[in-house]
Amino acid sequence: MKVLVINCGSSSLKYRLIETETKEVICKGLCERIGIDGGHFKYEVTGSDRGFEKDVDLPDHNTAVDILIKAVTDPEHGVVADVSEIGAVGHRIVHGGDKFTGATLITPEVMSVIEECSDLAPLHNPANIQGIRSCRKVMPDTNMVGVFDTAFHQSIPEKAYLYGIPYEYYEKYGIRKFGFHGMSHEYVARETAAMLGKDIKEVKTIVCHLGNGASITAVNGGKSVDTSMGYTPLDGIIMGTRCGSLDPEIVHAMADDTGDSLEEVMKVLNFKSGLYGLSGNISSDMRDIEDAYAAGNEAAVRAFDTYIYTIVKYIGSYIAVLGGIDALTFTAGIGENSPTVRKHVCSYLKGLGVEIDSAANEQGRGGRCISTADSAFKVFTIPTDEEMSIALSTAEVVAKHNA
Ligand code: AMP
Repeated sequence: MKVLVINCGSSSLKYRLIETETKEVICKGLCERIGIDGGHFKYEVTGSDRGFEKDVDLPDHNTAVDILIKAVTDPEHGVVADVSEIGAVGHRIVHGGDKFTGATLITPEVMSVIEECSDLAPLHNPANIQGIRSCRKVMPDTNMVGVFDTAFHQSIPEKAYLYGIPYEYYEKYGIRKFGFHGMSHEYVARETAAMLGKDIKEVKTIVCHLGNGASITAVNGGKSVDTSMGYTPLDGIIMGTRCGSLDPEIVHAMADDTGDSLEEVMKVLNFKSGLYGLSGNISSDMRDIEDAYAAGNEAAVRAFDTYIYTIVKYIGSYIAVLGGIDALTFTAGIGENSPTVRKHVCSYLKGLGVEIDSAANEQGRGGRCISTADSAFKVFTIPTDEEMSIALSTAEVVAKHNA
């Protein structure tokens, strides 16, 4: 089935057309600066020079979807003769609250529930909803499926998703851990089982999704049992600009000490903290931090060491929660591309019998085992592919619906 994957932000729309049987990416691209001056459209066709890019006015998401459908069906540049060749559209939706445990066919009722979840992700869900509406306009008869960042973590047990605050905050206001990056964790856990040559039901693994945003998930038998992000993506390990978990009283202290409002403090914790803040504003990008670290820059060493330490703490606690693991897998921008980060994390795990094969660790991007044969558990690096994960889940939902 040909699945169009749509990932809509407030001013951008990423898309990818995937043949799910062969896992082939037919074409992909991006609409940028939607609703702002300087709109731009990019369209790439795999293995062909039929793609193009152009500056174009993109006043709204409807226009962006129109332009992308025109490109995909264009007699000269297109990859399908007619829009009816697209079997389904898979929409990335950031927050499904505790309402969705998996990918779901989007009906009017489901649409209302997604709208209800907007309170939990006010920056993301409204854009995702707009993407669905715009696609419906040009493809009114095509099945649309919602794939949620939060759904994979709905298997987390109550003891792990509750916070130690009065229970009524959960009952009345739904304050609990949700977790994010679900598509990535699910996809990478499956790939990890495949690399081990085992049925996913028999595998215990920890997936480290280390990108600009980052989270670590304990996966038992293909199900998420705990994850480092929480009620929001601010929780967990130190990230590019997010602080990760901290004593809540610090928020109070930061406001008192500076005279900043609560809102201003939250901005600092979201956008000026993490690697960026700890390094004294060198950068939120790990490549810059590593360069400065290699040059002996003290602030970079401080940021890097603290970053590694928080990752190791989560790995250690999840090994305990899972009662041992078969594999530890690194993925996303930093996890896939930084041998230095992997080496430093794994050097803490030597006491647990983990041995890294330095040559394998230094090799470039790609799925590989980076531990030695004697290592207590395998360590992998596996490229994540959230779009493929969305396409496969979408095809599965539509196949079930049509059965
Ligand atoms: P993502 O959010 O998954 O796209 O990851 C983005 C992050 O990956 C960037 O902030 C970079 O810090 C990091 N990154 C990408 N390439 C490298 C690399 N070769 N070495 C270290 N970090 C990298």
